[in-house]
Order: sequence, then structure tokens, then C-alpha cells
Amino acid sequence: MFEEAKRSLVEYGRRLLESNMVGGTAGNLSVRVSEELFAITPSGMPYNEIECDDVPILDMTGHVVEGSRKPSIEFRLHLQIYKNFSDVQAIVHAHPIYCGVLSILRLPLPALNETMLMYSVFVPVSEYANSGTEQLARNVVSAMRQSRAVIMANHGLVCAGESLKEAFDMCETIERTAKMYVLALSTGKTIFTIDEKDALEAMEFLRKNYGQRS
Ligand SMILES: [Zn+2]
Repeated sequence: MFEEAKRSLVEYGRRLLESNMVGGTAGNLSVRVSEELFAITPSGMPYNEIECDDVPILDMTGHVVEGSRKPSIEFRLHLQIYKNFSDVQAIVHAHPIYCGVLSILRLPLPALNETMLMYSVFVPVSEYANSGTEQLARNVVSAMRQSRAVIMANHGLVCAGESLKEAFDMCETIERTAKMYVLALSTGKTIFTIDEKDALEAMEFLRKNYGQRS
């Protein structure tokens, strides 16, 4: 069951690897398949070897209801995001370099350009907790109340969207902007951010008008 969701996870897992936003088997992706169930990438398998049958389906208590593979160790993170945000349909967690730099500096990403404003006016840094823990999930959920993209302290980036495409594009956009920010910081010169009022207006405008949605 849920072949389409499994296929999209296989496809976006490969894209994640090609995008260099993860190394090896790191990172994880998931898609909600119903109110109570989600599909998630298996633990520790190379993205280019994952097939649809390797993708487990979990319920909201964390039990595998379909599939024989062990789910990603970060399944609690995905589960808690789905439980707390009913509009979230897909989640991508990656370890891109420049968000990684901000995660070590524990520096949130301010409003720097309109591309990032498609998704967020500000990307917070969630408090540190070890991988795979319930505490990590709680910390990310708490930061996600401010933004659907969250930098995880000393760890990486997590983006939640209305589709896998949106979550993936969000990761790429936030990482690109993080790269500009880190390079700008390295000059030691003054950094100018977009005023909060302008940023909020631009975000609303872009969400309503950008792209081909009717
Ligand atoms: Zn991770």
C-alpha cells in the first residue's frame, strides 16, 4: 500500500544525496499518508539502494504497521511534527554545510532575501538534544511554532511542507541563503536585513502571487 508515497520518498532521497545536503546515509525524509500514518526512509540505508519495499509505514505511536525495515532513528522527530502540525504533509531533515555552520554558532537566519521569504521570515535554532531522542523532537516542535524551517543546534536543518517537493525546495532555499549569510558574516562588514514589516508583506505577497498556482 501507499506506493505513490513510497516512490516519492525513494526519488527525493536520491535527490537529497545528489544535492549534497547530506553525506552517506545521513538525513531522513517522510510523507504523511493519512491522519494517523506516515511513510519514512529506513535507518542507515544508502539512498541509491532504497526501493519502495524498504520504506516502512508508521503510526502515530511509532509502531511499524507495514514493512520489514527499521525506520530512521529520527522517527520521533517526524512523528511529533505530524502530531503537532496537522497541515504538514512531508518532512525533510538534512545536514547541509552552511546551515551546519549556523547550527554550531547557534545563529538564527534573519530575513535576508525574498527567496527565503517564500517560506519563512526567520529561521530559528532549536535547543540542543541528542539524535533520536524525544527531547530533540520536542525542541524542534517548539521552534517550529515560529517557522516551518528550523536549524537544529549542532546538528542540521529540518523543513516541513505541504508536499515533499515543498519541504525539499525549502531545504535548498534555506541552505542557499545560509551560505550567503555565512559568506557575508565572514567579511566582518555590516549585515543589513529586511525590516520585519517589509518581510511579512513580501512573504504574504509571494505566497499569494508567485508561481503558477491558480
Ligand atoms: Zn540528523
